Amino acid sequence: MLAEVISIGDELTSGQRLDTNSQWLAERLGELGVTTLYHTTVGDDLAANVRVFREAVERADLIVATGGLGPTADDLTREAVAQTAGVELELDPASLDHIHKLFERRKRTMPPANRVQALFPRGSRVVPNPHGTAPGIDLSIPRPGRSDARIFCLPGVPAEMREMWTASVAPAIEVAFGPERQVIRHYRIKCFGVGESDLEQMLPDLIRRGRDPIVGITVSKATITLRITAVAESEAACRDKMAPTIATIHECLGELVFGEEDDELQHVVCRQLAAARATVASREAGTRGLLAWLLGEASTASFRPFVGGIVTTETMASGAADVGEWAEQARRQFTADYGLAVGPLDADDVDIAVASATGVERIRFARAGHPDIVVPRTAKQALNALRLVLRRRHDHTDRSR
Ligand code: ATP
Ligand code: MG
Repeated sequence: MLAEVISIGDELTSGQRLDTNSQWLAERLGELGVTTLYHTTVGDDLAANVRVFREAVERADLIVATGGLGPTADDLTREAVAQTAGVELELDPASLDHIHKLFERRKRTMPPANRVQALFPRGSRVVPNPHGTAPGIDLSIPRPGRSDARIFCLPGVPAEMREMWTASVAPAIEVAFGPERQVIRHYRIKCFGVGESDLEQMLPDLIRRGRDPIVGITVSKATITLRITAVAESEAACRDKMAPTIATIHECLGELVFGEEDDELQHVVCRQLAAARATVASREAGTRGLLAWLLGEASTASFRPFVGGIVTTETMASGAADVGEWAEQARRQFTADYGLAVGPLDADDVDIAVASATGVERIRFARAGHPDIVVPRTAKQALNALRLVLRRRHDHTDRSR
C-alpha cells in the first residue's frame, strides 16, 4: 500500500514558506506502516490541482493533502477534489452550523464567504476541525479493477492539521488499511573516515535499490550515515530482517563505524572517556573553537571528561606549529589524561596529535573539500583520532564492535 502527500499553496511553490506539513505527515504515515512514495507540491491553480489529484489517485492508494481549505477565492481544494471524483459539491448543514457557532463565540457574524467551507464533494465524510473553520474532507474514489483510493484533505495551518490527523485521520487509516499495513523500521549506522564512494565500494552490493532491507547512504559534514529500512509484519520481524545487513556492514567497515542512530563523534568519545574514567583537554588553531565546543556539548553527563580547551588563531606563518607540543601542553595545563590538538588550517596538510602519559601520537591528513566543510571535518578528524586511540587502549563502550 502506497501513500502520496500533497501540499497546496502558492506560498509553498514560490518558496516563501517551507512545506513542513509533508515531512510531518510522511513521518506519521511511516509510523502507521504506510510507505510514502510521492510528495507533491502544487500552487493555487484549479486545473493544476485536479491534475495532481488525478495522478495521485492513479499511483497511490492513500492520499493526504493539506492547504487550500480556507474561505477565500484562492482556496480550491474542495472544488479540485470534487472534479477529480466527478461529483458535485453539496452543503453539509452540520458543518455550516459549526462554522456559525465558531463566529458567534468570537462575537462576530459569519462572512458569507465562509459558507463555502461547509461544501463537500457528494459522498464524502467530514473530518471535524474543533478549533478552526475549515473542516477536512474524507473521500473514497472508485478505481476500475482496483480498490478505492482514499483521499484526506486537511487545512494547511499546522496546528489544526496535526490535531485532525491524530483525532480522526490516523484512526481511520488504521481501520481502513489495517490488514494491509506493515511495520516500517529505520536504523542508522554512523561512519567517519572515508568518502562516501569509497565507503560504498567497501560494501558488497548493499546500496542496491530494490534490496530488502533497503540501505541508503547520506553524508553530512563528512559524517556518513547508512540508513537501513525494513518493512515487515512486526517490529521483531523488522529487527530480524535487518540483523544480517547490520552485521555485514560492521564486518566490512570495522572501525570506520563509530556509532548508531543519533550518535555523533563527540558523544562516542565522551562515552569512551567516561568509561575509562579519563579526561581530555584540547588545543586548536583555525577551527574557530569547534573542537572545544563539540567536546563541551557532549560533556553534560555526571562525569565531565572535557576539562578545558585553548582556542587560537595561529597560522603557519606565525611560526612553526608543533601540534604534538600543543597536545602535551593542553594536557599539562588542565591536568587531563589526554591532550588533543589540531591545526592550523592554512596549510595543505593538517596535523592532529593525541598526547597521554605514554607519549604523543601524530596524524597528518590532506586538507580538502568545500570551505564550509573544512572546519567541521577537521574538528571531527581530531575527535576520530582520539576515538581510535581510546578504542585501542581501553574501550568497553564503542558500539562499532
Ligand atoms: P485556512 O482555513 O486557515 O485558510 P487552508 O487550508 O486554506 O486553511 P492555507 O491557506 O493553505 O490553509 O494555509 C494556511 C497557513 O497554514 C499558511 O499561511 C501557512 O502559514 C500554513 N501552511 C499551509 N500549508 C503549509 C505547509 N505545507 N507547511 C507548513 N505550513 C503550512
Ligand atoms: Mg487558506
